Formats: sequence, structure tokens, C-alpha cells
Amino acid sequence: MTEVEKCTICKGTIVQKYNAMPTWDVKGPLCSKCYSKKIFEHYPGQHVRVNLDKK
Ligand SMILES: [Zn+2]
Repeated sequence: MTEVEKCTICKGTIVQKYNAMPTWDVKGPLCSKCYSKKIFEHYPGQHVRVNLDKK
């Protein structure tokens, strides 16, 4: 049996699991949507994105 994890914030099923930063006061896993939302809330102005092209 596979245990399905639920997002701590939206309670949605987690497809890609993200762990909250200790400073976020969120105890539990997050889905990608809430994770990016939290990133934006806590680090406004910083663009967190995966970009392999560093030109
Ligand atoms: Zn979520």
C-alpha cells in the first residue's frame, strides 16, 4: 500500500514533494504550488528558478 501524502497548506495530493524551510513555521510537506508561493512570500524580489543556462 502506498501512503499518499497531503500538502500541509492546501491539503492537496502531493505529486512532487517539497520540504518547508525551518523558518517558515510549516510542519509538513508541501506541494510544488504552495512551495513556490511560500518562497515568494518569504523571499520577495528573489527569483527562484531553475536555469541551467547561466549566460
Ligand atoms: Zn499545496
